[in-house]
Amino acid sequence: RMYDVLVVGSANADLTVRVDRRPGAGETVLGTDLVESAGGKGANQAAAAARLGARTALLAKVGDDAFGELLLEGQREAGTELRHVLVETGARTGTAMIVVGPDGDNSIVVSPGANAHLLPEDVEAAREAIAASAVVSLQLEIPPATVRAAAETARDAGTRVVVNPSPAPDRLDPELLAAADPLVVNEHEARHLTQLVDGTPEAWARSLRDQGARSVVVTLGAEGALALEAGAGEAVAVPGVKAEAVDTTGAGDAFTGALAARLAAGASLPEAARFAVRVGAVAVTRPGAQPSYPTLAELPPEPGQFT
Ligand code: ATP
Repeated sequence: RMYDVLVVGSANADLTVRVDRRPGAGETVLGTDLVESAGGKGANQAAAAARLGARTALLAKVGDDAFGELLLEGQREAGTELRHVLVETGARTGTAMIVVGPDGDNSIVVSPGANAHLLPEDVEAAREAIAASAVVSLQLEIPPATVRAAAETARDAGTRVVVNPSPAPDRLDPELLAAADPLVVNEHEARHLTQLVDGTPEAWARSLRDQGARSVVVTLGAEGALALEAGAGEAVAVPGVKAEAVDTTGAGDAFTGALAARLAAGASLPEAARFAVRVGAVAVTRPGAQPSYPTLAELPPEPGQFT
């Protein structure tokens, strides 16, 4: 096998400013100094998996600008294989402009830039790598046709597909859903995709499996996660791990990258979710997305494990 985890997805420079008060239409407010960091769901998930020691590659597109270099440096530092990160001459790297309000709530505008130029032909060119990977991880910040091509290529090759349908569309591509093993959603995405606004996590998971996903994981913030395996009658609840949350940016991506890494190592879905919950819990204790992701050595001991 070439890779444990191949992530096909977005790479964005996160530009973050904190404000005391959110500006209204036509208004200007002063914020803190600008913080630039490597982000984007694809790049985040790859960094999370690589930092945990999984052999990881990222298929993504950046521009030949300073933000592209920031993204490459982030992956280099995490230990990701970079040969599938495509650098497009003259294109702008994707950017996420993030305004953090006084309660820690984010407002985000994403300019896709080079992410919009990651095409099915780029997936086709990486066919061999997809076939030689244990797990392919997908999100929805690149063109839908590209995501679909990656899912189909992986499925044809017998490569397991993890799908994080974020940002949540109104309707999921049935081909993508059928490939998802698991579909990984947070509470917001679960509500949106099931229309079960007052549902329980168990009801969301069942509904998404009934819609065609092979298996489902629902992340529940501080409460941990819920895993519903293919064919299983009951979902498995994974309790949260207590953490002093300072910044939850990218926690969901840390979770998904960790889940993919553990599945690639042969873990069952509940085992992988248990591991991913511990990784997510560390990620929220540090600022930023990728800079907050732990190595194996930085993980807290498993519950019940004494050191
Ligand atoms: P984000 O959008 O902030 O990246 P998300 O909404 O996609 O995250 P969550 O369900 O909020 O996803 O969090 C993902 C995982 O991160 C959780 O399953 C959990 O492991 C961890 N986590 C998040 N918030 C907390 C918290 N307050 N305390 C402990 N762990 C947390």
